[in-house]
Amino acid sequence: MKLKFCGATQNVTGSRHLVEINGVRILLDCGMVQGGSREEARKQNETFLFDPKEVDIVILSHAHIDHVGMLPRLVKQGFKGKIYCTTVTKEIADVLLRDSAHIQMQDFEYDQKHKGKKPEPLYSEEDVLAAVQLIETYEYRQKFRLAEGVWITFYDAGHVLGSAITVIDYTEKDQEQRRLVFTGDLGRKYMPLLNDPYQVDHAQTLIIESTYASHLHDTIDSITDELCTAVNDVVKRGGKIIVPGFSFERTQEIVYILHQLYNQGRLPRIPIFVDSPMSIAISKVFDKYSAQYDKETFRDFVSKKENPLYFTEIKYTQTVEESKAINNFKGPCFIVSASGMCDAGRIKHHLKNNISDPKNLVLVVGFMAQGTRGRDIVEGKNKINIFGVDVPLRAEVVVFNAFSGHADKLELLDYIRNIKDLEQIFIVHGEENECAVLRDNIYNILKLKCKVDVVDLGEEFDITPAGVESKLGARRQDYVKKMDLLKKEQKLL
Ligand SMILES: [Zn+2]
Repeated sequence: MKLKFCGATQNVTGSRHLVEINGVRILLDCGMVQGGSREEARKQNETFLFDPKEVDIVILSHAHIDHVGMLPRLVKQGFKGKIYCTTVTKEIADVLLRDSAHIQMQDFEYDQKHKGKKPEPLYSEEDVLAAVQLIETYEYRQKFRLAEGVWITFYDAGHVLGSAITVIDYTEKDQEQRRLVFTGDLGRKYMPLLNDPYQVDHAQTLIIESTYASHLHDTIDSITDELCTAVNDVVKRGGKIIVPGFSFERTQEIVYILHQLYNQGRLPRIPIFVDSPMSIAISKVFDKYSAQYDKETFRDFVSKKENPLYFTEIKYTQTVEESKAINNFKGPCFIVSASGMCDAGRIKHHLKNNISDPKNLVLVVGFMAQGTRGRDIVEGKNKINIFGVDVPLRAEVVVFNAFSGHADKLELLDYIRNIKDLEQIFIVHGEENECAVLRDNIYNILKLKCKVDVVDLGEEFDITPAGVESKLGARRQDYVKKMDLLKKEQKLL
């Protein structure tokens, strides 16, 4: 088996890993590079570190755009094989990719008009359609044959609805069967709506994410008291609660939690406006596949003939007129709107209309990247620039970090600890420091004897059944040298 890491190496976007088994080339994820320098992201999204025509199969771990966002471009550049994922991932990817194509076209037209520059969209809605038509779906635990000696099984990753851990069982040239596991984004236990991540019990090779390898998350249960206090205070003073929510998963989780707190009598049943066409489209997919919700959702809602996402107080506002009408609503309410980082979409209008009133609350439930309007709000800047106007920020701002959909330091280590037979671990999808922390913790806390690599962009490995061979990247060579030196100086052993 050969591996080439073509994205999400020491960063968290652009997930793309190429695996070759028995001459079959399998691409794990085809994500978009986001954030950072615009030119660099553009460059990495325009071209792949492989020829799309030579890829035979694509596997998608889940529908987040940093895992599926470049699929239409892959097809545009000549990929003609099959794409496999779960049914939910296919449906949500369809919604998100069409939106991505639409945004790119809008940006293109804006730049053409205002700047005279014309960076072509990376793909069109037709390319999205062509890509989605190549997708075939398999459900969790349904083992399917990919090629001679290569079998795939998806297991629930518990990260977002439809997310999968990919298990590849393969045999090369009369050798014993071996197993490669790709975690994709690994979720957490006890998250609303989602099943806990499935624990794979054995594998020789593991490709694992490391987004929060040095962090410990609060549990959602531990923050509900604080959440209720904050919201009840706003209701008493007659304010509104503005929630910037990512359309996929976070919005549905917030709605679920509020519904639960309403049912428990811990919050007054004030209206909840979900004001985002994209969130509405995705909530519909959730509802269609509600059989995949976890057992707590069945216990608390489904068994009582209640729908966690559709109930009396919730108003999904589709049209622009409905959206504008929210401004005229008097009295306390929740307004959940996208985009999550407040840089686009209808949330901008709601912030503009509401953040100058000290009675109101901005409830932050997602990560706000550097340089976004959301980050300015979290940092408590006096004025927030919206539509070219400086709007004074007088509303209260409360941040809850418990909603992360990624396993934290202990959850990652626990996951690895429960996998037998590991010979090699590749660490991906984490900032440089997070990758390094996970590698050091695997050695120092778990005391595993297997090889652990923090991979570089474009780094290739050749894994033979007899042992593990690799081409060392420059960064790894430095690390190995440093460790040898430390050992010599007896600082480590
Ligand atoms: Zn994700």
